[in-house]
Amino acid sequence: MEPRVFSTRVTRMLGIEHPIIQGGMMWVSQPELVAAVSNAGGLGILTALTYETPAGLERAIAATRELTDRPFGVNLTFLPTLVPKDYGGLIDVMVGEGVPVIETAGRNPEPYLDRLKAGKALVIHKCTAVRFARKAQSIGCDMVSIDGFECAGHPGEDDVTSLVLIPLTVDEVDIPVIASGGFADARGLVAALSLGAEAVNMGTRFVATTESPVHPNIKEWLASASERDTMFVMRSLRNTERVLRNAAAEKVAGLEQQGAGIAELAPLISGKNGLRMVTEGDTQCGLMSAGQCVGLVRDAPSAGELVDRIMRESRVIVDERLGGMRGAARA
Ligand code: NAD
Repeated sequence: MEPRVFSTRVTRMLGIEHPIIQGGMMWVSQPELVAAVSNAGGLGILTALTYETPAGLERAIAATRELTDRPFGVNLTFLPTLVPKDYGGLIDVMVGEGVPVIETAGRNPEPYLDRLKAGKALVIHKCTAVRFARKAQSIGCDMVSIDGFECAGHPGEDDVTSLVLIPLTVDEVDIPVIASGGFADARGLVAALSLGAEAVNMGTRFVATTESPVHPNIKEWLASASERDTMFVMRSLRNTERVLRNAAAEKVAGLEQQGAGIAELAPLISGKNGLRMVTEGDTQCGLMSAGQCVGLVRDAPSAGELVDRIMRESRVIVDERLGGMRGAARA
């Protein structure tokens, strides 16, 4: 593990070395990846909805604990689903297992917050607008993760970039802010800290790592994609999702233009296709969430190497690049 470079409220409250959080990603954020990120000094986050049942999540938590004794989290996303999910059962497992960090997303977690906090977990609410961050603070969330326009998956409907959204959120809330959407390297981390955030949340970048459970075809797809290779789908449903451009995404966007509704879109947008993509390596059959920072993804190192690299390069940016500018200004 790289020596600590930055100490922030997020690193201190979560008990981690580095202000790097691996985002909760459907099918991707599984024990091996989560543990690798936590072992490298960041915070790995499992995704509860990846598991069909509460018992499946319980097994994933146990598997993660076999691989790390460092803190990790579990994400629970409250967005519309095609098949009803057992949120109550999943929450019982998260709380019963004493998971130290719970990340909520998708909508206001207020109806569940008392139960989520019953086990003393810290709750990070991930949201996409300053007004949602303010609400999260007012109901007692411990931190907010703010997702800018660049992000993978669900960016909300306001289309405000991270560069604007992060400082505006920092100005509006007292709880720590985690910058999400567009972050993939040391330059992004230092920029996020400069904007007032106290950690970054990275999803897309961690998909292309050794421990990520996705098929090699998907990792190669990410490593070769440019920043122009993502597009929006499901905007007509007010459930916008940023995905990699492929045949399925173009088909969904085309059907939306013709006025298709959820019933017609369901066979194409179903998460079952996403599972097939990550397990079988079919890059065309469904939707693959990815952020614009996919353009910055050029390799698939181990998660530990990635975190080490980001921290090493952050030190160089702060000490040499920015420090050099200060020196030049004094000369
Ligand atoms: P799923 O198969 O149930 O649904 C597929 C997609 O259709 C999802 O994006 C879902 O939100 C959307 N959807 C379903 N019913 C809808 C409706 N009535 N109106 C509008 N949109 C609708 O989803 P899944 O792949 O099993 O994933 C489970 C949940 O996790 C979904 O809510 C999904 O959005 C969410 N998720 C979130 C992220 C993220 O970026 N945080 C990434 C992956 C999945």
